[in-house]
Amino acid sequence: MEIRTIGIVGAGQMGNGIAHVCALAGYDVLMSDISQEALDRAVDLVERNLGRQVGRGKITEEDMRAAMGRIRTTLKLAELGVSDLIIEAATERETVKTAIFEDLLPHLKPETILTSNTSSISITRLASRTDRPERFMGFHFMNPVPVMQLVELIRGIATDEATFKACKSVVDRLGKTAATAEDFPAFIVNRILMPMINEAVYTLYEGVGSVESIDQSMKLGANHPMGPLELADFIGLDTCLAIMNVLHDGLADTKYRPCPLLTKYVEAGWLGRKTDRGFYDYRGEVPVPTR
Ligand code: NAD
Repeated sequence: MEIRTIGIVGAGQMGNGIAHVCALAGYDVLMSDISQEALDRAVDLVERNLGRQVGRGKITEEDMRAAMGRIRTTLKLAELGVSDLIIEAATERETVKTAIFEDLLPHLKPETILTSNTSSISITRLASRTDRPERFMGFHFMNPVPVMQLVELIRGIATDEATFKACKSVVDRLGKTAATAEDFPAFIVNRILMPMINEAVYTLYEGVGSVESIDQSMKLGANHPMGPLELADFIGLDTCLAIMNVLHDGLADTKYRPCPLLTKYVEAGWLGRKTDRGFYDYRGEVPVPTR
């Protein structure tokens, strides 16, 4: 089946990036959210980021105009029914995602492929709540989507080969590289990355190092392009905590227990860059550590 129209649910950090790369690759994009403000902000951001690519000579003005012309937004989830492929990129909460799929199902074409950009939730479980587990899979982009090369493709227990191939061909057309992961909590990238970030928060919590010394140590000592706390702020501390909880619950191993300090930041609403405060305070000219 040829994929022409891609429906994206959720116009947050990930949704706007997914819309950007899909529209640039020539797909018609229909993006939906429960917030008009989120939709407006996402379109603005795509325009600014495409503009930056024009400025750097990576794409032409014409490419940018054509891509912007392919993106439409709606508050009505039902309008995504025309899509050949749906990529759900809403808040990382299982109840939110299952409610979205339930609302979408009556409006979908029988052949439409459903996917989720979830960082950690079981694809098999999400699929089992739909009418098409064989046409359901994980389509996990990395942040920021226009920059990061990898997409993890996660097969649920029932995902069929045609669905996998169709999704792989989309990844190819986006000019990205697919890694195939089995459906276990947090898949590959976050199974390895999140415990490291959580351990960095424990290192802070136990007073082994300050925010700055922890980030500097990993940048200069392990050659990481960003420190783990800086990276956590970039991902969103609520997302990091949600992924640790999925690892902890799903693998039933205490080595995955979320650091109480991470929970405290999330309870404070200090979620990182998206709320202007996390392990760093972003409200001034330069980020200032909050501990
Ligand atoms: P975000 O908080 O920036 O955006 C989530 C968006 O979903 C918001 O605009 C919100 O209004 C919208 N939303 C909530 N409920 C909705 C509903 N019922 N219908 C439609 N829209 C709804 O979150 P994000 O960082 O973009 O993450 C989205 C998904 O992508 C999550 O599953 C997350 O795990 C995954 N992900 C995130 C990252 C990352 O680095 N942030 C990386 C890979 C994957």
